[in-house]
Amino acid sequence: MHCPFCSDDDTKVIDSRLVTDGAQVRRRRECLSCKERFTTYEQAELVMPRVIKQNGSREPFNEDKLRAGFLRALEKRPVSVELIEAEISHIKQKLRATGEREVNSRVLGELVMDSLKELDKVAYVRFASVYRSFEDIAEFQAAIERLQAEPERKLATDSSSADSDA
Ligand SMILES: [Zn+2]
Repeated sequence: MHCPFCSDDDTKVIDSRLVTDGAQVRRRRECLSCKERFTTYEQAELVMPRVIKQNGSREPFNEDKLRAGFLRALEKRPVSVELIEAEISHIKQKLRATGEREVNSRVLGELVMDSLKELDKVAYVRFASVYRSFEDIAEFQAAIERLQAEPERKLATDSSSADSDA
């Protein structure tokens, strides 16, 4: 941590204690360069990171939007609302756990794809086709083939034939 007085990065903690019922750690620090002392507070970051969109603009994380994405992909699919909500909670938890203030929308998209892959393969391909905006039908076909190949790969006891995916 940089010294706020001289910007040196050699500071040492001279005192550390829990405050606000243990929700925060208060640290007294001393700069090894200019000897000034200052206080820092540390607490768990529980806010959702903001989402960096592809055009570089930022927007607050929007749970409704995330849910709408799930519901659109899972339209007319045999997946319960409870399972969808559990995945949404799971994704929020993962985003919080990153501790980042901002997260790329691409990361969020990948998390949704991971969830859909577990929930429903059809929904996964639906979402992936829109999300990754496949250039042509061959690319779409390749994605489906990879998907179909997966369970077999898990079952195979002999994995000597490596796939040639780059
Ligand atoms: Zn200093």
